Amino acid sequence: MAVTVIPLADLRSTAALPRLATHSRPPEGQLIDRRGRPVRDLRISVTDRCNFRCSYCMPKEIFDSSHRFLPHRELLSFEEITRLATLFAAHGVTKLRLTGGEPLLRRNLEALVEQLAALRTPDGLPLDLTLTTNGSLLARKAEALKQAGLRRVTVSLDALDDAVFRRMNDVDFPVADVLRGIDAALAAGLGPIKVNMVVKRGVNDHEAVPMARHFREQHGGNVVLRFIEYMDVGATNGWRLDDVVPSHELRQRLQAEFALEPLAANQAGETAQRWRHADGRGEIGFISSVTQAFCGDCNRARLSTEGQLYLCLFARQGHDLRGLLRGGASDAQIAGAIADIWHQRDDRYSEMRGELSVQGATDGPRIEMHYIGG
Ligand code: SAM
Repeated sequence: MAVTVIPLADLRSTAALPRLATHSRPPEGQLIDRRGRPVRDLRISVTDRCNFRCSYCMPKEIFDSSHRFLPHRELLSFEEITRLATLFAAHGVTKLRLTGGEPLLRRNLEALVEQLAALRTPDGLPLDLTLTTNGSLLARKAEALKQAGLRRVTVSLDALDDAVFRRMNDVDFPVADVLRGIDAALAAGLGPIKVNMVVKRGVNDHEAVPMARHFREQHGGNVVLRFIEYMDVGATNGWRLDDVVPSHELRQRLQAEFALEPLAANQAGETAQRWRHADGRGEIGFISSVTQAFCGDCNRARLSTEGQLYLCLFARQGHDLRGLLRGGASDAQIAGAIADIWHQRDDRYSEMRGELSVQGATDGPRIEMHYIGG
């Protein structure tokens, strides 16, 4: 029998320790990178574990019982996360998104939510605090998360058809439980909810229209369904361009069923192109990370489970903020280091990936999605 070996580059511990800045006071104000992009959105991965094994993200063959997940001591503590989030807020971050792995697997996550909900921008405003989840534990946790101060949730759901969904999550998890989670989140006041569907050709693209119909009819304006182009993140999912359904193709299919009108972006740096049902019964979005890379106004920073700062989903190198935290650096020093890192930021990996794939080149191993979060 032929055996396929997929090299899994473990990039979890290769981050460089940032140079310690000499600032005696934290540098204040909005950080801007070399391409004029501010930092606004901090995505915080709270665990590298997940209870799903979606083949496009954590394929079972690789993330099996022999895979070594990070031991608890390697994870940032809630206090460490909050300390970093405070420094990022002083630097212009207005939005925090908890992710993973599956963030609801992190024990007592509500305590972290409570700490983050207390943070303020320099103008004294609360941050937009959200969470991305596969929804499997949401029915149980929605109310407590809301009480702790969570504002909204994004739920990942790739199909309505139970058999398709069970195949995709590859742990036989039923779609009905995720739908219950969405209902619970709406009832708890965590709406409007975004539902993210990764579309893979020949696997679930036929589910796009039923998904759009379901959320339009059941939830109208309270659930925004967003279609995500399947991305070449990480090194384990065997990504092929042929598996991607370009957003424009999907939109045509949806427009054959529904009257849709384009909407303006809510804010700069928004990942989705927004459309609304012309009769006012809800909104859908397209996240075209592959066919229309949107590096130009990317304002996102990503903090890995073990405290490495990544400036892009496709980066190969992080910056070891945990090393600073645990090495005794002061707030001023860490804030200075973050400022130096962001000021140097010059990447536009997604746009370059387009250029490289046209040339047929490869650009080496990258971090895995379950480690850095979506
Ligand atoms: N477990 C949580 C969840 O399911 O939302 C958070 C982490 S998960 C890595 C975040 C998002 O990334 C999910 O919506 C998932 O579908 C998406 N994702 C993972 N791999 C992807 C890929 N190769 N292309 C596009 N989206 C991907």
